Amino acid sequence: MSATNPVANLQTLVRCPSVTPAEGGALSALEAMLLPLGFKVERMVATEPGMPDIENLYARLGTEGPHLMFAGHTDVVPPGDEASWRHPPFAAEIADGELFGRGAVDMKGGIACFVAAIARHIEKHGAPKGSISFLITGDEEGPAVNGTEKLLKWAAEKGERWDACLVGEPTNPDALGDMIKIGRRGSVSGRVTVLGIQGHAAYPHLADNPVRGLLPLASALMAPPFDTGTNDFPPSNLEVTSVDVGNPATNVIPARASFAFNIRFNDVWTADAVKAEILRRLDAATADGLLRPDRKPVRYDIAWAERPSHVFLTRNNALIASLSEAVESVTARVPQLSTTGGTSDARFIKDYCPVVEFGLVGQTMHMVDERVALADLETLTQIYGTFISRWFDNALLP
Ligand SMILES: [Zn+2]
Repeated sequence: MSATNPVANLQTLVRCPSVTPAEGGALSALEAMLLPLGFKVERMVATEPGMPDIENLYARLGTEGPHLMFAGHTDVVPPGDEASWRHPPFAAEIADGELFGRGAVDMKGGIACFVAAIARHIEKHGAPKGSISFLITGDEEGPAVNGTEKLLKWAAEKGERWDACLVGEPTNPDALGDMIKIGRRGSVSGRVTVLGIQGHAAYPHLADNPVRGLLPLASALMAPPFDTGTNDFPPSNLEVTSVDVGNPATNVIPARASFAFNIRFNDVWTADAVKAEILRRLDAATADGLLRPDRKPVRYDIAWAERPSHVFLTRNNALIASLSEAVESVTARVPQLSTTGGTSDARFIKDYCPVVEFGLVGQTMHMVDERVALADLETLTQIYGTFISRWFDNALLP
């Protein structure tokens, strides 16, 4: 049967130059792998005013429950300076036991292995007793507006329901088997602008220097700590990421000064609670009479970035155990269950079903010479295959 070889699958996918927002032939290549396996494949184009249309793919094998979803993306980040690659970024050349190419790790490799795993499962045992589906977007590395979020909604509106999801993003820091992700921190960003009165630096009593106000407001957000962490998450952390006055003159007090911040928060908080705490801190800092003795209180505006990411933690033991045991039985290593790292599309999937993440080793993702060891592709295929068997066994238990 076709598609059982993850290396061949990955070569086919890497040779499609699918830099966001281009489909690049990658979804068509995936469709061509899934159709012979019996999947019903649908292509969904998502649109948004002012943004490029994005092609997405949903494929399902089976009509009954239980229903396992594999989620991921075929789009890739740009290769950068192609001349600095040892092997061309879309040639999928193999050298010294490694396959080179943009997306080899993030995350065409994960897709190639899952396709191989399900192809082998069908060859050996037939189709799973239940359903298995691929939910693959072409918009993860870009704005992610026309991707997983809309694809999930589209599928759910047609009646699709899932019992569990595995996202195939690279999750391992150093070696295959290091780490499964079972949750992600939330993220909120914003910008605070302190409003002053412009004037001559030699006549400060006639002006109102917003930089004086900016410093304590920024400090109030960075300390004290928001919390001390939880069982499953590290402490929440806020960073001031930019301070902007834009004043080229040394003898002018500026009219305004602003700073940007980002907080990664744990399950102590919701996005709304984090925002309320930030406002409370800012108001306390402005109300503090020590800020600007004998002067007017600091005035500020705050602008929140759109679409905060919500924190989540997956507590589905059957799902976590199926994956964890599969990793252990293939690699003889016990994976760490982690909630570290940035956000991922799992933040959208968690609203539909329990979701965990496990894929390749992330070391070369987004870099020049992105590459994956052929041995890792075989090992990940075996892990995915074992996971598929175990998950359906567990889900079918009375
Ligand atoms: Zn990715």
